[in-house]
Amino acid sequence: MLNDEFPDLMQQAIAGLVLIQDDRFVYTNARFAEMLGYSVEELSRLSVPETIHLEDRPRVSGHVRDRLAGAPRGHWRFRAVRKDGSTTHFEVHGKAVVHVGNPALSGIILDVSDRVAEEIKTQGADRKLRELLENMELLAVLQDADGRVEFCNQAMLRVCGKGRDEVVGKDWFDTFVPAQDRVERRRAAHQDGQRKAQTEHEIATAEGELRLISWNVIDLRDEHGAVSGSASIGVDITESRRTAEKLLHDALHDSLTGLPNRALFMDRLSHRLALQKRRQGSVFSVLFLDVDRFKVVNDSLGHVRGDELLVAIGHRLSACLRPGDTVARLGGDEFTILLEDVASESDAVKVADRIQEGLRAPFLLGGQEVFSGVSIGIAHGHAQYAGPEDILRDADTALYRAKAQGRARSIEFDVSMHDRAVALLHLETDLRRALDRRELRLHYQPMISLATGRISGAEALVRWLHPERGLVLPGEFIPLAEETGLILPIGAWVLVEACRQARQWQDRLNLPLLEMGVNLSPKQFMQPDLVAQVAGVLRETGLSPRCLRLEVTESLLMDNGARVADSMSELRAMGIRIDLDDFGTGYSSLSYLHQFPIDTLKIDRSFVSRIGTTEDGTQIVNTIMSLAASLDLEVVAEGVETAEQLAALRVLNCPYAQGYHLSRPIESGQFEALLAGGRSWPSP
Ligand code: C2E
Ligand code: MG
Ligand code: MG
Repeated sequence: MLNDEFPDLMQQAIAGLVLIQDDRFVYTNARFAEMLGYSVEELSRLSVPETIHLEDRPRVSGHVRDRLAGAPRGHWRFRAVRKDGSTTHFEVHGKAVVHVGNPALSGIILDVSDRVAEEIKTQGADRKLRELLENMELLAVLQDADGRVEFCNQAMLRVCGKGRDEVVGKDWFDTFVPAQDRVERRRAAHQDGQRKAQTEHEIATAEGELRLISWNVIDLRDEHGAVSGSASIGVDITESRRTAEKLLHDALHDSLTGLPNRALFMDRLSHRLALQKRRQGSVFSVLFLDVDRFKVVNDSLGHVRGDELLVAIGHRLSACLRPGDTVARLGGDEFTILLEDVASESDAVKVADRIQEGLRAPFLLGGQEVFSGVSIGIAHGHAQYAGPEDILRDADTALYRAKAQGRARSIEFDVSMHDRAVALLHLETDLRRALDRRELRLHYQPMISLATGRISGAEALVRWLHPERGLVLPGEFIPLAEETGLILPIGAWVLVEACRQARQWQDRLNLPLLEMGVNLSPKQFMQPDLVAQVAGVLRETGLSPRCLRLEVTESLLMDNGARVADSMSELRAMGIRIDLDDFGTGYSSLSYLHQFPIDTLKIDRSFVSRIGTTEDGTQIVNTIMSLAASLDLEVVAEGVETAEQLAALRVLNCPYAQGYHLSRPIESGQFEALLAGGRSWPSP
């Protein structure tokens, strides 16, 4: 039984207590009134709906009806309206009762506004997470334990180009793995047991394209710890992988020809060498190729055509080889080939022959047929080679030899070449010091006027008095000096010394018209300040420009063109004369001669030496002389070695001659003695 204290106890209960009948509060405790900000007295005068938020009234009365109609005890929430008009959240635990013979509802009421606020917050977080997952750029997929897709986000749908209903609920492998890979991939996935956390897999899109995705996968587990599925986050790395692959490709290939570049070639070569060291036996070879006279094509037809030629050569080289071999472009007009496996060393030579043959047909560049050839150096790989650079170096040495022997040929490396190359290196070191140590000398060869039989001038010819090797002739070091650029200081010294000497002889022997011939290498001639340099030397030494003859070679005219003609004109305007040396050995055609302001043709020794041996010999010299006459050029016959030749030249009315038969090149003292003695050669 309730004791008397009970109502008091109820008044102070934590929860509100109500008894409702016909929308009226039959009973409310003090706590409930307090929850709404009314007094118990005031509440008794209100109708129940007045305390309920307008929108919640239908729902609440629905609940009440259900309860009264016999539904078991239940609870629901609604928004209550306080006396001050504010709303708060109540939870009612209601039960149908009978009060004074009529149905009524008794309720325990809790203020749940704090809890509701909390719930709203967590619901919001869930929604945000879902939104994030749905809208992020990363691909998100949830799968159940059987590999069926439970969820996938928009990014995933975008990448695969499929609709949500084509993906969700479907088997992952059937949906995304190309048919031919499905069995294998499914097997691999199951075999992994524990799925790999980080993997890369391709997925097939609706268009049948494959996209490479980097996946982060975690296993999802149920409350018993069993795997219930997986969650995967992916990034589409198709483009970045392509870019990376392109970068790698570009780093290892030549952009012009698309062939492997030096880096890749050296890499393959070092692998092949390593293989050789592990298991000797088979042969491999390196071919080093250089396009003959590429500079001429480039300068005459332009760089665009030059590039086209290189590309075309690259194609032909590739066509001459087997798939396993590597053709690379090292740069410029240099190519290398690695023959991975040749039956014998002579087979490598056969490949080189095949290449020469393959390049024999003309190339069509801008509608013009161009013939091009290559020189090839061949080095055979041995396990004894320390590194790939050494093999390449030897192939290069052999190439150098092939070029020196007249291009368009292939030469195999042998050790003597290496010795020569080493010797050349020593020579270069020595040559660098030669100037400082005053080891260079000039010898002078008389130039004879055949009309008077007297010396008309001298040609200065440089010599090197090497401390160990004695007198070294220019043929042995001028090419090296050209290659290394040392020709510039050497040439400058020669010019000063020759001019100084000429002026001295003129003064001492009273020969004001004595001429001095000085050889200029193409490199020297191409110096931008050449004209100023020469003018300076003449000023310094006091030699008249009329007494200086500059000897140039045909290759200078061939390879350089307009700039050369300009410099020549300037020099000639000063009164200096330009002689074309070794005429007939180069490739110059008559049209070249027209274009350049030349004074003299020096007929090469190879023609002069044929005089007398054949009828033709004399005829050729005669022809050159009439050519010179028609172009209004002087003539000097070089390399006159016999009395016979001299006689024939006189008959041909050749005005000047030079040669061992007349005098070898001699030291300055001897030359001065010749001049002083008034030596003359019998005139007709
Ligand atoms: P070059 O200008 O044609 O000089 C003529 C060469 O033929 C000289 O060789 C000379 O000694 C040689 N010679 C002259 N008469 C005869 C002969 O009757 N028979 C034979 N067999 N040879 C004869 P050298 O002095 O050895 O010079 C060779 C080349 O080196 C020169 O050919 C020239 O092109 C170059 N050279 C010499 N001195 C210089 C120089 O100071 N500067 C440059 N750039 N080149 C030079
Ligand atoms: Mg000369
Ligand atoms: Mg000559």
